[in-house]
Amino acid sequence: MNDYKAPSKLLKDKVILVTGAGDGIGAQAAKTYAAHGATCILLGRTVSKLEAVYDDIVNAGHAEPAIVPLDIKGATPNHYQQMAQTIIDQFGRLDGLLHNASILGHLSAFKDIDPQEWQDVMQINLNGMVYMTQALIPALLKAENASVVFTTSSVGRKGRAFWGTYAVSKFATEGVMQTLADEYKTKNVRFNCINPGGTRTNMRAQAFPAEDPNALKTPEDIMPTYLYLMGDESAEVNGESLDCQPK
Ligand code: NDP
Repeated sequence: MNDYKAPSKLLKDKVILVTGAGDGIGAQAAKTYAAHGATCILLGRTVSKLEAVYDDIVNAGHAEPAIVPLDIKGATPNHYQQMAQTIIDQFGRLDGLLHNASILGHLSAFKDIDPQEWQDVMQINLNGMVYMTQALIPALLKAENASVVFTTSSVGRKGRAFWGTYAVSKFATEGVMQTLADEYKTKNVRFNCINPGGTRTNMRAQAFPAEDPNALKTPEDIMPTYLYLMGDESAEVNGESLDCQPK
């Protein structure tokens, strides 16, 4: 789907929440969704980064976004319930949700995985995503045609030595997506995954410090798949895990 050409108003009047919207792929996705007509809700932990994305969107003349400063590591189901109620009060519904925020943790031998780090990675990459989704389902069901997009990885489909914690969190992401896709298949909300593939961001540089970043796709390059899954042209797509780049 990375050759998808999105109509300029693909996301007109849609309200879309992007997690990890301050940097990397999430920042680009929020700007791209706004440029295609969406009102974005920017969720992330570093307020200055969210404000920079907000400024870029407003300065480009797009719909004013909302900012939700939230560290997923410390957030409880109650935080997500409150956020969901605020979204319903303010917008009446949620049309799109991009679960993008994640951490890599440290790559290490499986036997050496630090228990605290295991918990932190699972809290951010999996538990927060699950609790947030649970809380937002009522808002998503109020939309005409809602799309939830999870972010997976190649190591979420085939395990890789030394990538234990992160890889398991991404296998679980695929499992959450498939379960929800089946559970809501008769409803007006669909659930899919995106695998960005190697993309020029801080996380990629952390994982592959010796790699030449200029050889990688940029977040902007991979946006067609992000647009496709968020727009109504993918309304019949449910339970799929799409790649942004050839494998
Ligand atoms: P980055 O590290 O560049 O960005 C991650 C974003 O998530 C940042 O905005 C970060 O906020 C936010 N975030 C991290 N922890 C928290 C937290 N506790 N609470 C709230 N926000 C948080 O990563 P990428 O853009 O590369 O990755 C985006 C997604 O794509 C991830 O799910 C990743 O697993 C996936 N992916 C990326 C690939 C790549 O090659 N880049 C390949 C395959 C998958 P802050 O900036 O404030 O730290």
